[in-house]
This record gives sequence, structure tokens and C-alpha cells, in this order.
Amino acid sequence: MLVLVLNAGSSSLKYQLINPETTEVKASGLCERIGIDGKLVHEAKGHKISKDIEMPTHKEAIEIVLNFLTTGEDKVIDSIEEIQAIGHRVVHGGEYFNNSVIINEDVISKIKSLIPLAPLHNPAHITGIEICMELMPETPNVAVFDTAFHQTMPASNYMYAVPYEDYKKHGVRKYGFHGTSHYYVSNEAKKMLDKEDSKVIVCHLGNGSSMCAVRDGKSIDTSMGLSPLEGLVMGTRSGDLDPAVINYLMERKNMTASEMINYLNKKSGMLGVSGVSSDLREIIEAAKNGDERANTAIDMKCNRIKKYICSYAGVLEGVDAICFTAGIGENADLIREKVCNGLEFMGVEIDEEKNKIRTDENREINKNSSKTKIYVIPTNEEYVIAHDTYELVKG
Ligand code: ADP
Repeated sequence: MLVLVLNAGSSSLKYQLINPETTEVKASGLCERIGIDGKLVHEAKGHKISKDIEMPTHKEAIEIVLNFLTTGEDKVIDSIEEIQAIGHRVVHGGEYFNNSVIINEDVISKIKSLIPLAPLHNPAHITGIEICMELMPETPNVAVFDTAFHQTMPASNYMYAVPYEDYKKHGVRKYGFHGTSHYYVSNEAKKMLDKEDSKVIVCHLGNGSSMCAVRDGKSIDTSMGLSPLEGLVMGTRSGDLDPAVINYLMERKNMTASEMINYLNKKSGMLGVSGVSSDLREIIEAAKNGDERANTAIDMKCNRIKKYICSYAGVLEGVDAICFTAGIGENADLIREKVCNGLEFMGVEIDEEKNKIRTDENREINKNSSKTKIYVIPTNEEYVIAHDTYELVKG
């Protein structure tokens, strides 16, 4: 079976054509600047091409992708009929979805009803889904939600301490995100641990970063909240801060509420503190050259992760493994070292040499004497989407 995995953003579209039975990725790529001008990066059969192509809407973008998959020297299928299902990444499933689902009218209307909670993402996903239904009417579509894995959190962890009626009436609670990644990584860790009632902490550290406490395969707590703004210090997001900062700054800087949210989402975090970049590689380079603010930003990021590790060890009543994943978690040995150093009191002993080794495989980077395992596990959200789609559709 071949599954087309789509991740439609407001002006972008990421895709992979995957065989979920063998995990082979037949083709992958990214359409960017949809609605502005249009740029395609497409990879298949070991060739990578980059092309400027007009993409006035997502419809043209999907048509271009289907065309690249089925024609030319690097075509990987003869016709779109070979695509047996489409798996869509959907950011917000609210309290409706605790698992992936085959998309029907009811699912679409529920995803639409969640637009106030994910105003940038859910409309783009709906667009992607509706275009696929129009272009490939016979092909089933599946929605895989970022929030679904976290629906196992107990109320004591997902509730905010605000009046209860605002949870009931307005859905104000912690939903959590990156669920597909937290599921994949914690499941890999569970297999590596081979232990009953495993206690795992996942650190998904990319531009967007979040952590998850996973007990025996179930999300118990996570750092992102109603929106992806809560929790860790991220590329451009502040993460946790005193809510009083909001009103205080709005008055002093004469900002509206949406300007304030934009400030906390796009201008804060590592970019805001360092003034260098949101890209950790550039911040590390600046810190090496003596930039104090870059140094402070790195320490803030690591300290926040450390705080969450300790708090999740409490929530889990112990910890068997700490897992690092995503761009920073998989590649930045400096961050892993800074996070783990000092946690020896809770049985966390990182091995400096193992930490520096680079491979694309799951690996253990703790000392042999370490009570707690430290794993680097490359995430694979697309595979989870393809796999869930396959499981739902094959029946
Ligand atoms: P997202 O998917 O959230 O956009 P990624 O998971 O791709 O993000 O992670 C991007 C981040 O990973 C960037 O901050 C980048 O600097 C960081 N990164 C990638 N490679 C390295 C590296 N070798 N050392 C340090 N940071 C890295």
C-alpha cells in the first residue's frame, strides 16, 4: 500500500509518499510560498530538485506534487490510483479525538469547530483535506492529530486553575502538541527499555519544543498548553512566564492583545533573548565567540528543560529514560550535556563520548553506571501518520 502524508500549513505543504508496510519513503518534498509565488523542493529516486513554480492556492500545489509523483524521469508511480490513502497531519483535535480517524463530514465539521483554538493551522488542514477529496474522490483520507496522544492526561494535569465554567464553556485547558512525535519516541523508548510500567520523559527540541511525561505508553503531562506557546524556551516563543507580564507590557508598549500574542510567539524565546537568531546553530556560534546574551539564552533553554525533567520525574514518581529528539535534541550534544549535567542526584549520568557520536539511529548515551537511561531517538512523525492511515484504511 502507498500512503500520501500531507502536512498543510497556511502557505506551505509538506508531503511524503510512504509504503507503511516497509517504511520506504518513495518521494518527499515541500511546497512553500503558496499564494505568494511558489517554490517546490522535491526528492525522489535519490534526486533532489528545487524549482520556482506558480502556486496561487493549495490546489495548484497539490496538483503539482501529484504531477511530479506520476510523470517525468523521477516518477515513482504511474497514476494517482496507486495512492491508496492520504494521511493528514491535523494540529488540533480538541477533546473530540483521542486517536486518528477516517475523515467524513462530521470529522471535518469538528476540525472546523476547533479553528478558534488553532486559527493558523486548522483552516489550512481543512483546505488540504477538501482539495484531496476533490482531486481524488475515491481515496480515503485520515486525520492524525497532534493533540490526540495527550488525551490520556488526567484532569489534575490538563486543567488550568481558572474558574471551572471556563473549561466547560470555552475549552480552556491544556491540550498539548507534538503528540505524534511524543508517541513515536516514547514507544521506541518503551521497546528499548523492555520493562513493565515504564516511566519515560521525552524532550522534543526543535524550533517548537515540548516535553512529555509518559507512563507505560500513556501521556500523563506535557509542557505545551492551550496553544504551543506554553512551556519551554523555544526558537521564537517565550514559553512559561508570569501572565502579569502581558498586561504590564501591553500598557507600556501600547500593544493590542493580538500584537502581544505575536510578540510572545514570534519575537521572543531564543531570538528575543540572544538578539542573534532563532536558529540554535547560530546562537551556539555566537556564544563561542563570547556573546553574553547568546550564552544566557542557551542557559535559559537548558535550565527550563532541566526544571521540566525534575518536575516530570515527580509526576511519574521516578524515571527510567530521558529521550532527546527533533532538530536540537538529535543534533545538539552541547544542549544534551548541559541539560543532563547536575542531574546525577537522580541517577542521570551522561557519557561525554557517547553523547558526541552522530548517527541516524536510536542510541543510548548514558554511562553504564547510570540508573536512568538517556536516549537519542530520531523522531518520525510522517511514519506514524502513514502507519495510522494504513491501519484504519486496510480494514
Ligand atoms: P521544527 O521542525 O520545529 O521547525 P527542527 O526539529 O527541524 O524544527 O529543529 C530545528 C532546530 O534544530 C534549529 O534551531 C536548528 O538550529 C537546530 N539544529 C539542527 N542541527 C543542529 C546542530 N547540529 N546543532 C545545534 N542545533 C541544531
